[in-house]
Amino acid sequence: MGWIKMLKQKNIANDKMINLSTNENPFGCSEKVGQAIVQELNKVSMYPELLGQALVEKLADHLGLDWKRIFLGNGTDEVLRLLTRGYIEPGDEAIMADVTFPIYNRNVLNENGIPVLVPNSNGVHNLDGMLQAITNRTKMIFVCNPNNPTGTIVGKEKLRSFIEKVPSHILLVVDEAYSEYVMTEDYLDALTLMEKNPNLIVLRTFSKMYGLAGLRIGYGVMDDSLIPKLLSVKDRYNTNRLAHVAAIGALDDIGFVSFCKQQNNENKKYLEQQFDQMKLSYLPSQANFVMVDVNRSADKVVEQLLKKGISVSIADPTEHPQSLRITIGTQEENEELIKQLKSIILLTED
Ligand SMILES: *Cc1c(COP(=O)(O)O)cnc(C)c1O
Repeated sequence: MGWIKMLKQKNIANDKMINLSTNENPFGCSEKVGQAIVQELNKVSMYPELLGQALVEKLADHLGLDWKRIFLGNGTDEVLRLLTRGYIEPGDEAIMADVTFPIYNRNVLNENGIPVLVPNSNGVHNLDGMLQAITNRTKMIFVCNPNNPTGTIVGKEKLRSFIEKVPSHILLVVDEAYSEYVMTEDYLDALTLMEKNPNLIVLRTFSKMYGLAGLRIGYGVMDDSLIPKLLSVKDRYNTNRLAHVAAIGALDDIGFVSFCKQQNNENKKYLEQQFDQMKLSYLPSQANFVMVDVNRSADKVVEQLLKKGISVSIADPTEHPQSLRITIGTQEENEELIKQLKSIILLTED
């Protein structure tokens, strides 16, 4: 999208539009967030803590690990960018899935690195293929788990053995932006392998389950020896005061997280049943979105849904031109989506 078009684009959050395109939490955020922000308002004239120490300590406690391993970013997007800024030299290769979160590819290209794409099998990262893609130029590997836009995860044992096989001089970035939504037992919390694997970097965010996308706060967990490089390329006050206290408030509300997780799971089942009835195939999702094959140009369906007041995403215009990535909304939003999707599909039946 051109930047002028972006500037002119109306903020979806401001209208009655149902936004199922950016994987935000349809239930908003915890009430504790608002309270924390109000309490902090009389401090907005002051710069934030340089490294968000209070939040870092809170996270260390929450995750049960050393605070020296935690690095905050202005959204996890910033942590991703600083990782490539700090560690990718021109000509370095970075291995990633095809398809996955497009930001990895863009950031590697911005550093004149070389993205090496390994096709998924049935939407799931092909970890054996990714191992085979390693060369002496490989500097970084990205594993998105659950993967965006497919919603799939890699099995626990497969990921464990992959992490052990990746040579220790290659940085292995495991992006767990959606880990809080995962229901299956067959999921590896990569944080548990941090101690043994100093090349492992685990990313999490407050933008999805915690509902703080508009405040921009995320983090990476890594060996403390990797952090100075990131500090040398980051802006001084990269994360802000309100985001720090909001994130602390959000972590304190376990009830909100378990409510959203449960609702997401039920609402996902509703969407899957509806897709089954409509004979549309979809990938098994462990996240707060579903990738569904609509059997016709996804581009057109996106356009038609927009006219009906619903925004969804195209999963990937090149690899999956007939698939949508739909954020799981509230039950009401999902019912409206299904109603409109049914009428569009009926109209264009051939
Ligand atoms: C949303 C998302 C992020 C990060 O989002 P931020 O808002 O920048 O914290 C990172 N990785 C994936 C795969 C995502 O979907």
